[in-house]
Amino acid sequence: MTTEVAAPSGYDAFLAAITPTSGLMKTILDPATGGVVGEAPVHSVADLEHAVAAAVAAQPAWAGLGHEGRSAALLRAADAVERSAEDLARLLSREQGKPLNGPNARFEVGSCVAWLRAAATIPLEAETIVDDGQTRAELHYRPIGVVGAIGPWNWPMMITVWQIAPALRMGNSVVVKPSEYTPLSVLALAKVINEELPEGLLSVISGGRDVGERLAGHPAVGKIMFTGSTATGKAIIKSSADTVKRLTLELGGNDAGIVLPDADPKAIAQDLFWGAFINSGQTCAALKRLYVHEDIYDAVCEELGAVAAAAPMGNGLDETSVLGPLQNKQQFDIVNRLVDSAKHSGARILTGGNPPQEQPGYFYPTTLVADIDNDNPLVAEEQFGPALPIIKYSTVNEAVAMANGLDVGLGASVWSSDPAAARKVAARIQAGTVWINKHGAVDPRIPFGGAKQSGYGLEFGVEGLKALGVPQIING
Ligand code: NAD
Repeated sequence: MTTEVAAPSGYDAFLAAITPTSGLMKTILDPATGGVVGEAPVHSVADLEHAVAAAVAAQPAWAGLGHEGRSAALLRAADAVERSAEDLARLLSREQGKPLNGPNARFEVGSCVAWLRAAATIPLEAETIVDDGQTRAELHYRPIGVVGAIGPWNWPMMITVWQIAPALRMGNSVVVKPSEYTPLSVLALAKVINEELPEGLLSVISGGRDVGERLAGHPAVGKIMFTGSTATGKAIIKSSADTVKRLTLELGGNDAGIVLPDADPKAIAQDLFWGAFINSGQTCAALKRLYVHEDIYDAVCEELGAVAAAAPMGNGLDETSVLGPLQNKQQFDIVNRLVDSAKHSGARILTGGNPPQEQPGYFYPTTLVADIDNDNPLVAEEQFGPALPIIKYSTVNEAVAMANGLDVGLGASVWSSDPAAARKVAARIQAGTVWINKHGAVDPRIPFGGAKQSGYGLEFGVEGLKALGVPQIING
């Protein structure tokens, strides 16, 4: 059954409120249908200058509210997002492509509410480092000033909240530069949050790379929170060097999962599948390479195939869809190229791998690839789409070496009926997070960040708050 959800009564007014009435505009198309979603402003570097000036002006009074006042405003902002949740989810689904249901658009908006509330309420006290009667030293975290937030198109609302909520809580003002593929989602989210914030404190500059570059090099900006590709992360390190900006870099990954021989294929298949295919694989910490012991290789392939067959892909507004299209043509072409390279190498396509020739959207079928070599491009490169290579291994040492063989290390997972044994393997993996019998689960209380070229700095939890402050020691 493919019934469309009726537009909530306020949706059109909601969209109209973020539609520019003048200036340069860009038409945003629905990746599922090719239809028009709306018009986004194309801001310039001059617009960015205005936003930074407003952020500089608004920040001291905001910092002056203290943690209590800022937390109260952020909690009201979370309530405002909750009240607009259905309109936000619908716009997100149309612009990004992800379905309303499953771990997708409604889930993403719900996560925005959860992360806003967490950033507002996690306690952060000054720490007494030494107090021995002679010396007294305390560690405080002071506001940085203006923070720049540059984000990607895969989880545009949630990642914006990950960046702005701790920044605001810590007394900073923020200028956001969303991806040029998904500006409407971020503009709409900021509009709702701004109902509860002072003028100028939080702005969205919806421009291209030039705006991102200027933000990363702007002398009035003290820190950049960046989530995106490793290549852009390296460019940001360079543009921010002259002003010695603080950076949190959440970059690309190519997460490995290792299934140990004692795992139960049927019991783990659902979680393995969603670890890999959440948001049609367009997730930084999705499982992108699956290493399965030879004893249970065929059984795991079979169980994954059964889960894949039962996960409908379609237009995000169809309440039955749980998987959506790729967000843009560039990403579709990457996935297509990588699966073709696997096919030509003689790997076995268990399911999928054959996108329709003519279609209005960017749907790539759910694809499982078996009997593939570890050095195939579908394994070695981040595919960022619904195509999972499954590699057979014989010894745990061999699996760990393959998992660690790349220069990225965002997440990883180990799957076993013996969690203690799995934790021993986990300790040998070079990744910022290693999950046991799950993959990609993030939690606002638990720090998250990458190893190797997946970036540096931590988000979430008290560590995430500290990353948005300047440490200051008061000695005496
Ligand atoms: P991208 O690097 O192409 O773009 C990200 C943002 O950077 C966009 O807003 C873009 O306009 C901006 N940008 C581009 N060039 C710039 C420059 N020179 N200076 C400043 N800004 C610039 O990334 P994407 O394609 O939007 O996102 C996909 C990538 O993001 C994947 O590699 C994925 O793994 C990664 N990602 C990582 C995480 C994480 O938490 N580690 C989360 C989500 C996505």
